[in-house]
Amino acid sequence: MESPQTPEPATVHNIVFGALRRNLAGALHEPGVPAYDELATPWNLAVQASPAAVVEAANPGDVAEVVKFAAANGLLVAVQATGHGIASEMDGALLIHTRALDTFVLDVDKRTARIGAGVTWKTILSACEGVGLTGLSCSAPGVSVAGYTSGGGIGPMARTFGAASDRVRSFEVVTGDGELHQVSAQSDPELFWGLRGGKGSLGIITGMEFELLELPFIYAGALFFDAFHVENVLRTWAQWCPTLPGAATTSVAMMQLPPLPGVPEPLAGKFTIAVRYVYIGTADDGATWLAPMRSAGSLLMDAVGPMPSSMIGMVHSDPEDPLPAAEGHTLLADFPVAAATSLLEAAGPDSSSPQLMVEIRQFGGALAQEPAVPSALCHRDAPFGLCTVGVGPPPVLPAFRAHAGDLMTNMSPWAYGGTLPNFSAGSGAAGFAGNYTPAVLGKLTALAEYFDPSNVFRLGQVPER
Ligand SMILES: Cc1cc2nc3c(=O)[nH]c(=O)nc-3n(C[C@H](O)[C@H](O)[C@H](O)COP(=O)(O)OP(=O)(O)OC[C@H]3O[C@@H](n4cnc5c(N)ncnc54)[C@H](O)[C@@H]3O)c2cc1C
Repeated sequence: MESPQTPEPATVHNIVFGALRRNLAGALHEPGVPAYDELATPWNLAVQASPAAVVEAANPGDVAEVVKFAAANGLLVAVQATGHGIASEMDGALLIHTRALDTFVLDVDKRTARIGAGVTWKTILSACEGVGLTGLSCSAPGVSVAGYTSGGGIGPMARTFGAASDRVRSFEVVTGDGELHQVSAQSDPELFWGLRGGKGSLGIITGMEFELLELPFIYAGALFFDAFHVENVLRTWAQWCPTLPGAATTSVAMMQLPPLPGVPEPLAGKFTIAVRYVYIGTADDGATWLAPMRSAGSLLMDAVGPMPSSMIGMVHSDPEDPLPAAEGHTLLADFPVAAATSLLEAAGPDSSSPQLMVEIRQFGGALAQEPAVPSALCHRDAPFGLCTVGVGPPPVLPAFRAHAGDLMTNMSPWAYGGTLPNFSAGSGAAGFAGNYTPAVLGKLTALAEYFDPSNVFRLGQVPER
């Protein structure tokens, strides 16, 4: 790591950032050095991030220094842990990279984890392996716990255990005024409310403590069928979902995976459909509930069975390596067979859909219940979520986005009328507003005005002011 004291060639930015650099324990990198490129490049390579400088925060004090400096100098601040949910190109902003805030402590007796903001679910899941615990991970464990939880965190066990943000005990956060706060439901109920679901609109989380679950094993995985069975699988899934208990969480994904290393041979270069499934209970009960889907067509692969809960990432098998992606998202009020038919028209095997994946997640169950301590996460009662992911070189991504827009229009008869913050990065202020009810948006806006008076976070997912 570059030392913060290392003199660099004189540039305008050096002069501007000299005072800040001297106050940091971590390094500040400007364009033109490899560390800048490494840290400013997000996981989603479709976004060409171009911050004025990147600060690799070494401690919460660094985060506070950067925010104060930005506010005093009329600059904006962005935050990145992994770049899975990058909100903008961050033009001219100071980017705080959190990967070096990587401490974590598991308290096995209390069943809690205390982590720094750079820690990913992968780290937590493997640390929990062997002690019979787990957390409410993202479908993609490479995502940061803090970034995910700031948007609610709705993962592959959401119908059984609710949102990850419901399990937070406390945060350590630097608000837009540069103040470092220790925040719990008791100490600061408003900030605690807004940090759970409000994305990064109020502050940069530097650390957090959350509850773990005692859950060594799950009955989980995915069933894969080829293009011939897509129609029957999707229709069967639509009829099966309403019968499921809260112990089961499922999603279905139509996929066109390229023949690349890591893609299982039976799925590579083909149109396939995957039924993802997590059951919390005995393997026998899990298999009984899954039986209608197992018989919905001849299986290409049956990868559902008992597994350690640390392997939850196998359920979606989301890509791990960075790629250029255009994502679309909306929530659905229902997913009857007629909706499945519409989805097949827009994205089925005969549709010429360019999307790598079109996914429907079933929500409901525990997720639909308001948590004991209220949070800013809205639309918890939406029964289904729809996501599209198109992957390709940047010039083709606008066409993928246009296709996703047409697909959403096709599905509009079943629209819920809203979105989730974790699935709508990059959709601007209007997209941010779509994540919330008017009352919650109003409260978040008022809190943002109080905690971020200079609006330094406005390049991220924040309310319009
Ligand atoms: C393949 C894939 C699968 C996914 N699966 C799910 C899923 O199952 N459920 C779900 O809910 N979401 C899911 N997501 C969305 C994911 O949770 C968001 O993109 C999340 O913001 C990623 O957080 P990150 O910190 O890793 O990403 P980054 O791009 O580094 O950060 C994204 C945003 O998170 C916020 N953020 C990050 N760090 C902090 C911090 N320290 N303080 C405050 N705000 C912060 C900021 O708004 C930031 O702009 C998925 C995304 C991908 C790409």
